[in-house]
Amino acid sequence: MQITLPTYRDVIEASERLEGAANITPVLTSRTINAEVGAEVFFKCENYQRTGSFKFRGAYNSLAKFTAEQRESGVVAFSSGNHAQGIALAASILKIPATIVMPTDAPAAKVAATKGYGAEVIFYDRYTEDREAIGRSLAAKHGMTLIPSYDHPDVLAGQGTAAKELFESVGELDVLFAGLGGGGMLSGTTLSTRALSPNCTLIGVEPEAGNDGQRSFNSGEIVHIDTPDTIADGAQTQHLGNYTFPIILNGVNRIETVTDAELVEAMKFFAQRMKMVVEPTGCLGLAAVRKFKDELKGKRVGVIITGGNIDIDKFGRFLQ
Ligand SMILES: *Cc1c(COP(=O)(O)O)cnc(C)c1O
Repeated sequence: MQITLPTYRDVIEASERLEGAANITPVLTSRTINAEVGAEVFFKCENYQRTGSFKFRGAYNSLAKFTAEQRESGVVAFSSGNHAQGIALAASILKIPATIVMPTDAPAAKVAATKGYGAEVIFYDRYTEDREAIGRSLAAKHGMTLIPSYDHPDVLAGQGTAAKELFESVGELDVLFAGLGGGGMLSGTTLSTRALSPNCTLIGVEPEAGNDGQRSFNSGEIVHIDTPDTIADGAQTQHLGNYTFPIILNGVNRIETVTDAELVEAMKFFAQRMKMVVEPTGCLGLAAVRKFKDELKGKRVGVIITGGNIDIDKFGRFLQ
């Protein structure tokens, strides 16, 4: 199948659509981390994005492009996490009916948040049913448009607007770290990085337990794995996508991994030193900065904090 990959132009158009709808999230610094790493580190805080993660950007960009007919029939998404909330809020702002397919054992808080944004939630049994098949059959039966969490040109172009804002606010960088699940964030970041800071070393960061992205990047073929066992629940993806992979392969410099223990250390740093609640997946970038600090001396380094959605009791247990 021949597909047309999005370009930086699509990121610019996405940022125009997001104007007034998405937050321009803050870029924060920490003297403590600068001293520890011996570099100047800039954190792009998508934990302060609407719905608590960057997923709102891709969701809103996708829905804002719907035709009148698509708007009427509605959107369907399958996700138990941040994509569901991004789609639900974007749909409610744009007055598009939304249906979210979630596992019966999804955390009550996430179900409540999704319903709170006005979406209809349909449950499936994650052990016996295939959510993708359910999503597709809903789409076919009711004419709804399915928006996947990463492998879609409008989704990844929307995600790329976070890095665009980062470069526009701090200028070019020597190194940029972005978390990697299915690659919507990293591929969008690639488009913005190659346009706005072409010499920047762009590093994707995955949980060690789910290093399919690194293996795919190194082998040149999309590697599929079983759902990885990691606290980084936003990166428990099984493979990169047909849109995200070629962009990553062509424009990313390296993909590195970090352990769950390193994620917890980063989470503690954010809480204690920067007074921020960052979810485990949002800690991938900082964990990698600390792991590779020897090569960052004297450099200007960017980190995208991808999200901050975590159950507060669970957060407390991680900090103990
Ligand atoms: C979805 C998500 C990721 C991974 O993004 P992809 O586009 O799937 O690579 C990382 N962090 C958070 C907080 C997320 O919600």
